[in-house]
Amino acid sequence: MRRLLLFFLPLLFSSALAFPADHSTIACVGGKVYTSPTAPAIENAVLLIENGKITSVAAQSQIKHDLPQSAQRLDCKDKVIVAGFWNSHVHFETGWQDAANVPASKLDAHMQEMLTRWGVTTVWDLGSDPNNTVAIRRRVEAEEVAGPKILMAGDIFPKNGHPVYLPPEMQLPEAASPEEAQQMAQQYMKAGFDGIKLFTGAFMGAKPTVNMDTAIVKAAVDVAHAQGKLVFTHPQNRTGVDNALAGGVDILAHTIPTEGQFTPEELAGMKRKHTALIPTLTLWTTVVQDPAVADQLVQAGVTELKQYFSKGGTILFGTDVGFQSKYDTTQEFEFMGRAMPWRDVLASLTTNPSQFFKATNKGRIEKGMDADIVVLDADPATDVRNFSKVAYTIRAGKIIYSGSKKSQ
Ligand SMILES: [Zn+2]
Repeated sequence: MRRLLLFFLPLLFSSALAFPADHSTIACVGGKVYTSPTAPAIENAVLLIENGKITSVAAQSQIKHDLPQSAQRLDCKDKVIVAGFWNSHVHFETGWQDAANVPASKLDAHMQEMLTRWGVTTVWDLGSDPNNTVAIRRRVEAEEVAGPKILMAGDIFPKNGHPVYLPPEMQLPEAASPEEAQQMAQQYMKAGFDGIKLFTGAFMGAKPTVNMDTAIVKAAVDVAHAQGKLVFTHPQNRTGVDNALAGGVDILAHTIPTEGQFTPEELAGMKRKHTALIPTLTLWTTVVQDPAVADQLVQAGVTELKQYFSKGGTILFGTDVGFQSKYDTTQEFEFMGRAMPWRDVLASLTTNPSQFFKATNKGRIEKGMDADIVVLDADPATDVRNFSKVAYTIRAGKIIYSGSKKSQ
């Protein structure tokens, strides 16, 4: 009886097995591969992925051996292959409640809609309900849900700096003194957070922005740096940027479009301290009702991005998605393309965050690197918006998004 069952099982389930259960070997055949933002493209390439790692990448004409029999073959003809994308500013907030208990299929669908269909293989959650994000991360790592690697930052707000756009009943950690900031940062480090985010400027609507004192910033930064962890800031205004820089913050999580531009002193300080900038340009289309005002904010954000990029500053792609609800990344690429060439946009998605966050096995398509891969339907060299046209997203050698039915 058992033998009979085993015999019939493959037949019964063969139609459901569009992807073999064992994904350990994948061969992407025939695509154009940009192995890094600076390398020339490899045309008509074969990219081999085994056990979560890239084991070879070369032009098809250079391949001497047959592909492994077990390899799942992805037809990548007319497609463009780049390393997996980082979104260094997201939130698992709107629509992600009760992640420990909702069906995996629901989380999976939302993950696809918000992140994986846009090529995202690593994210920084810069502030959501931490228990909820931990639940999401656990279910992703257990492979119940197809999703990116999730890194988390713990938030600290200034005293009386509860931003108007967050529900008033939400309990926020406000630091009134350097000692309090130090304690909060220590708690975050002890709880295993990957970084910290400081609201060095909290938006209060019609009332003036509440800024965090530099001494408080520094107290939290010192704790994080002692653990080798990095600190983000939500700056909101010029004082928010200046206090963050003076206190040693590592990453500006937004531009400051209401200020119009960065000052020469700010740019010099950012460059000297190797501060990274996350532009979040799409966000500026969502924060005001008047489209003319939104346009001005976007333009100012583009100007600031261009200022820092031109100085040689580090740019990290990030959209604040999950707080704002424009999941489609097309517009962000269009805006970034106004300030920088497509290869540098690719760096902001891949090599820059991998270097900045010391993920040395990510960011490039090379033998031995993590198999975090995006297969695009069109070439970003001809239009930077093509970074949003994703056919497959592969993380650690597993297909976590497939928009094409051409696989075999
Ligand atoms: Zn945010």
